[in-house]
Amino acid sequence: MQKQDPQSKAALLERAPAYAQTVDLDVDVHLIDWEISERAKRYAGCCEYNHLTEQITITLAWAAYQEYGWAEFTGTIRHELVHAWEFQHFGDSTHGTRFLQKAREIDAPRYCRPFTEARLQLVCTNEDCGWHLDRHRASKSVTNPDDGYRCGRCKHRYEVQHVDSGACWRTNDEYERVRQWLGKDW
Ligand SMILES: [Zn+2]
Ligand SMILES: [Zn+2]
Repeated sequence: MQKQDPQSKAALLERAPAYAQTVDLDVDVHLIDWEISERAKRYAGCCEYNHLTEQITITLAWAAYQEYGWAEFTGTIRHELVHAWEFQHFGDSTHGTRFLQKAREIDAPRYCRPFTEARLQLVCTNEDCGWHLDRHRASKSVTNPDDGYRCGRCKHRYEVQHVDSGACWRTNDEYERVRQWLGKDW
């Protein structure tokens, strides 16, 4: 994240509606409630509509924001704004043709990119230690754990775990094998 990007939930809660004002979309941003969720792990954003009060609430996931950074996260905001636009003009919203057309106009991603918990985890091999660290990408500490990397607490070796499959490795050779074995399930 860059310095001028929101660094706190309060800052993000201020910046998101301000950014929304600048998006070229016929939507009344003042009528939208903004919330930040610390618990949301599966989606980066969510747009809800109350059919009785016509109140729109856009919830942004703090974890997703931290993972994407501001620049990519504005795509999430634009996506949720298209939902808000559909709600305000048509009273419903899907990811259908009308949505897609509008999303294209403002360069918003068609789908709320699902945001899941970390795909990878570094786990200390010292059972008394309990240190573990989430990793989202295949960085060097993930692909080459035998390349001088150590537990951040007790300096023991760690193993890398692919969370979904449970597959583990401690060396680059093992990593290559697991990666091949998992194929598109990586
Ligand atoms: Zn959506
Ligand atoms: Zn340790």
